[in-house]
Amino acid sequence: MRFKDKIALVTGGSRGIGKAIAQRLISEGAVVWIGDINEEMLQATSKEIGTKPVLMNVTDEAQVKEAVDKILSEDGKIDLLVNNAGITKDKLLMRMKKEDWDAVINVNLTGAFLVTKAVIPHMIRKRQGAIVNIASVIGEMGNAGQANYAASKGGLIAFTKAVAKEVAGRNVRVNAVAPGFILTPMTEALPEKVKEEYFKLIPMKRFAKPEEVASVVVFLLSEDASYITGEVIRVNGGLYT
Ligand code: NAP
Repeated sequence: MRFKDKIALVTGGSRGIGKAIAQRLISEGAVVWIGDINEEMLQATSKEIGTKPVLMNVTDEAQVKEAVDKILSEDGKIDLLVNNAGITKDKLLMRMKKEDWDAVINVNLTGAFLVTKAVIPHMIRKRQGAIVNIASVIGEMGNAGQANYAASKGGLIAFTKAVAKEVAGRNVRVNAVAPGFILTPMTEALPEKVKEEYFKLIPMKRFAKPEEVASVVVFLLSEDASYITGEVIRVNGGLYT
């Protein structure tokens, strides 16, 4: 039980990778809050897997603060944070509207900034905490049609490294995981033909299960990773090394 007595917050935890992370943390003893924008799914997932739900649009600074205050007033602390909420709005640059750019940067990058900023003072005060940001292979290797997404995830990696340096002396670790293609509603939406093209590029010739990302995230959150900070761990089947 690596996370006995630990309080965790996973954003975008109602489904996909975030849900798998929440389940894994619960199985190892943590009390897990999921913060998500979709109230109905938030409630349904919490009922299903035993998380505590808190409504949180990560782009809304006031709502983020309210959600963090609720967790602190109920459970007294937040030891572990996973910035997982993320969206895509894929289009070639020539066709990408400013709204598509802004939406993706706002959720994937500014959202992580707002949640981290709300949580980190409490971790610093306790001289203890671990944060994992869910980046993407696309943030390192780029991809046609995903300039907004690549910029948000590349930015998230840089953000991870900067914040890690700021808080390392206070015993708060900040790392990133950069998944490749994972089987979630986000990738299920891809046409079969596109998936087949991706398989050709992935040395392991398959997409990953969300649990294969979750196991790395919980490792980084745990004391097993006590001397790792500012790091990016790739979970991509050899797609980009
Ligand atoms: P997903 O299945 O689409 O789940 C994302 C969750 O985030 C959803 O519950 C979504 O709610 C929520 N969300 C969206 N906008 C939000 C906001 N403003 N505030 C709070 N919650 C919000 O995605 P996933 O595939 O599990 O991806 C999780 C993370 O991994 C993302 O950051 C993604 O970029 C990253 N990632 C995924 C893959 C992949 O292949 N799947 C690969 C690399 C990285 P709604 O359903 O209401 O929108």
